Amino acid sequence: MVEVTLGSTEITVNKNGFGALPIQRIPKEEAVKLIRKAVAGGMNFIDTARSYSDSEEKLGEALEGIRDQVIIATKTPAQNAENFWKDLETSLSLLKTDHIDIYQFHNPAFCPKPGDGTGLYEAMLEAKAQGKIRHIGITNHRLAVAREAIESGLYETLQFPFCYLASKKDMEIVEMCKTAGMGFIAMKALSGGLITDSAAAYAFLARYDHVLPIWGIQRERELDEFLSYIQSPPEMTRERAALIEKDKKELSGNFCRGCGYCMPCPAGIEINNCARMSLMLRRAPSQAWLTKEWQEKMKLIENCLHCGRCTSKCPYGLDTPSLLARNYKDYKEVLAGNVSVQ
Ligand code: SF4
Ligand code: SF4
Repeated sequence: MVEVTLGSTEITVNKNGFGALPIQRIPKEEAVKLIRKAVAGGMNFIDTARSYSDSEEKLGEALEGIRDQVIIATKTPAQNAENFWKDLETSLSLLKTDHIDIYQFHNPAFCPKPGDGTGLYEAMLEAKAQGKIRHIGITNHRLAVAREAIESGLYETLQFPFCYLASKKDMEIVEMCKTAGMGFIAMKALSGGLITDSAAAYAFLARYDHVLPIWGIQRERELDEFLSYIQSPPEMTRERAALIEKDKKELSGNFCRGCGYCMPCPAGIEINNCARMSLMLRRAPSQAWLTKEWQEKMKLIENCLHCGRCTSKCPYGLDTPSLLARNYKDYKEVLAGNVSVQ
């Protein structure tokens, strides 16, 4: 069993964290069963967010009686102190707990600091003094904000995307956290579904002893896969290293990570899937993406207004409308049978 200590928080948990975003999509009963099985199997870090609809509520029910066996991290998207307190009280009540172990600012566009006029960081300190939260964290998709958060010395953990497709600059953030004694929580360790071999993803992350991946889990078979890694952590074999190299070549550069930060789109385009359709068609059985429903969703790309909203919000600086157009062109070719996929 491999454990990770999250920097100065001294929280030590199993290296397989439970990402509770996907449990929004399954019925409560199923979610409760899944979470209890995860905890019984040794997962003892759970990450959720106020913005993940009913995820906290489902967790609250699932963790009744076993709350002390897990570390709970949740997040607030609040932009001011008033909403911060509302979110915190709601999270405490839904999670049926008197404290949050790690309370994180959820992907703010700036790095909250004392005296910045928002009152956000002061609220974090007050919540900590009151014992309602134990540690202060921040999540982000932007390199600049992540860097500023580390340099500020104000945060105990950073949650940031990290997987074997990471750029050199992403790697720097990971190293900076280690030097600063901050816990690093890795989101998108499967790059939003583009990495299909989770054992290879795990083996890569195992090289970073301060990094805690949180796996987004919705199905029991996914849970079983990660629970098996608790018993026998995947090692970096020659085959896995070769797969990683192949994926890096195939997925380098300007590809959509599926994070959805560019949405909503005024034309109703499901950008987080449509802008990476070509990859999805080739990296998993394509049939699921070629249904009538998906054809209709892809057709919406024709209605793009070129308003630029998505581009301005994309943390990876992608030219989203062009990416959508390229993916749509390829999709039509696949549909017409001019290009073959698996
Ligand atoms: S540019 Fe097109 S895809 Fe982007 S938000 Fe505007 S309408 Fe949607
Ligand atoms: S276009 Fe950018 S913001 Fe939108 S889903 Fe893809 S990576 Fe995320």
